[in-house]
Amino acid sequence: THDELLERQRLRESSARSYPRRLPVALVDARGCTVRDRQGNAYLDCLAGAGALALGHHHPVVVQAIRDALDAGAPLSTLDLPTPIRDRFVTQLFDVLPEHLRDGRILFCGPSGADAVEAAIKLARTATGRSGVLAFGGAYHGMTQGTLALTGRRSVKEPLGSLLPDVHHLPFPTMYRSPFGLEDARGAAARLVEWALTDDLSGIPAPAAVIAEPVQGEGGVHPMPAAFADAVRRATRAAEAVLIADEVQTGLGRTGELWASQAVDMEPDVLVLSKAIGGGLPLAVIVHRGTLDGWQPGAHAGTFRGSTLALAAGAATIKEVVSAGLVEHARDVGRRLTDGLLAVAAGDPRVGDVRGRGLMTGAELVDPSVVDADGVPVPDGWLAGRIQREMLRRGVIVEVGGTHDAVVRFLPPLVITAAEVDRVVDAFGAALRASRD
Ligand code: PMP
Repeated sequence: THDELLERQRLRESSARSYPRRLPVALVDARGCTVRDRQGNAYLDCLAGAGALALGHHHPVVVQAIRDALDAGAPLSTLDLPTPIRDRFVTQLFDVLPEHLRDGRILFCGPSGADAVEAAIKLARTATGRSGVLAFGGAYHGMTQGTLALTGRRSVKEPLGSLLPDVHHLPFPTMYRSPFGLEDARGAAARLVEWALTDDLSGIPAPAAVIAEPVQGEGGVHPMPAAFADAVRRATRAAEAVLIADEVQTGLGRTGELWASQAVDMEPDVLVLSKAIGGGLPLAVIVHRGTLDGWQPGAHAGTFRGSTLALAAGAATIKEVVSAGLVEHARDVGRRLTDGLLAVAAGDPRVGDVRGRGLMTGAELVDPSVVDADGVPVPDGWLAGRIQREMLRRGVIVEVGGTHDAVVRFLPPLVITAAEVDRVVDAFGAALRASRD
């Protein structure tokens, strides 16, 4: 039964598992944006494999691509050896890359996003001969020891002791709950980046790399302001450091732009991609400028780097996202989602902020009775958890993240319809009302 599945998991699996704690459902069936549990209850999936399922569950083009590969007897794993399916994936991806990376190089790192971030840092260190990395407060880049060092969340790394050395964090200019208080966050953060990278008195040795998410995801859905991206780009160039854009979550249309870094003219030297580009199967790559090649032959290896089924699913997904106009669609329904959440939130002071880009959207829950020194109400993680549970009861799966896990996050498949978006908004409104007592 449903409860037995949950109970057996609780007994057998490590307590490090995270999602089932907040979302106690055992899923057995999935189509499009809808998943069903063992008892037949349907849920709109606004988690979508943490953003990996751009086309939702079992999209016909993905299913067909996987079937075709199996029917053709394609080898499932060839390590780095070329295959027609691998070639098709690379061609498909390069056709849609930002202009400045189209004559670049791709490295398969897989299977997880964290693997690709690790490779990007390795490349930057090898190419520059330096070791330092600058990252940002609130950043999320993975759960390996190297990527955790880059994470801008103290609580997850403190229990581990020393991680990657020479990592420094700078404030990310969030527009809500800004680390600069009431000052202009964009200007202040830009000045700090410039100072850290180029001023002798910053005391920070010139780093190998600066790594940033063009829209912070797990950190609570914070879009990078264009003016800040520009400052980061200029300062990185002046310091001859490698600029790495982590588009593991934002990449391939989610933000209403094909690449979120392109939307703010970040022009990264390295683009880190995973999640959506595998069509829901594990795949992770970096693409870097051709001029940036520090690798010795064999310098980066691994067994699972580009499984045939993931490459087939990924190539089909990239083609479909572009040819079906899903980037524009994500922008349109994303605006509908944001507008809907704003309308529901109007008059309810417990929703402090609604923000995002495209279908990467968040609503920050606050306790209006307690304000910080800047007069901003404090985050309310307990309420966000309550909203998440109430939405689950109403048939919508959402994620939480950000400061104190107080941000309810919406990451639905890009194919979500306007009618489905309206159901998500209604469920959020109903959950807010239900959690008034
Ligand atoms: N970078 C970003 C921006 C992410 O959002 C994530 C995953 N949420 C990762 C890296 C790590 O990816 P993975 O979980 O596949 O290791």
